[in-house]
Amino acid sequence: MIAPEYLEWRDLGHAGGCTRTGWEASTKAVDFPGGRREFAVRLVCPKPKGCGMFHEWSAIIPPGDDSEDSRTGMSIESGPVEYIGYGTAPIKAGSVWLHAGPPRQRGRLGEDNSPEYFVVSVTAARPRTMADALGVVGPAISRGRQVKGRWFAGGIVDHERYGPSASPIRDDLASRTAAVRWVLVNAQTRQDT
Ligand SMILES: [Zn+2]
Repeated sequence: MIAPEYLEWRDLGHAGGCTRTGWEASTKAVDFPGGRREFAVRLVCPKPKGCGMFHEWSAIIPPGDDSEDSRTGMSIESGPVEYIGYGTAPIKAGSVWLHAGPPRQRGRLGEDNSPEYFVVSVTAARPRTMADALGVVGPAISRGRQVKGRWFAGGIVDHERYGPSASPIRDDLASRTAAVRWVLVNAQTRQDT
C-alpha cells in the first residue's frame, strides 16, 4: 500500500442530513486498583445542535504483560447518543438542567428505558468537571428493578482513588422534581459550610 497515512483512513459518518463536519473529541485515561488501565477516545456530535452520532474506541490494558486477564480487551462502538446518554439534549428542570446518563437497560434511551441517572447542572452546557455538577438524580432501584414513583438524589464528592461518587445519597424521594430540589438544597448547604 502506497501512502497509507492518506489512503487507508476513512471519514467518520454523521447522521444523514447533518451539515456539521467537526466532532467534540475527548479522551479518558483511568488507572484501576490492581494495575489495569483504560484508555478511550470518544467523538460526539451533540444534540440539540448536532445530529447525535457518537464513535468510541476503548482499550483496557492488563497490568504488566498479563494478556490472559479476561477483564481486558478492546471495544469499538458507534451509533446514536441515546445509547450512551452523553450528547443527548439537556432537559430544563425548573432553574437547572439535567443531562442523561446511559440507559438502564440495553439499547437506547426512550419512553420505557430511562437513564440510570441525570447529572444536575446550573447551565445547559454539558458538565465536564465536578465543579459543573451540583449532584445526580435518578429512578430508585431495588433488586435490579425500578421502584415506581421513587427517586434517588446525591451530592457529588471526589474520592481521590476511585474518582467522583455520589454522597450523601437519598433514595426515598417522591418525584424527579423532589429529587432535583434535594440536590439544590444539598449543594447550597455545602456551599454555606
Ligand atoms: Zn452530526
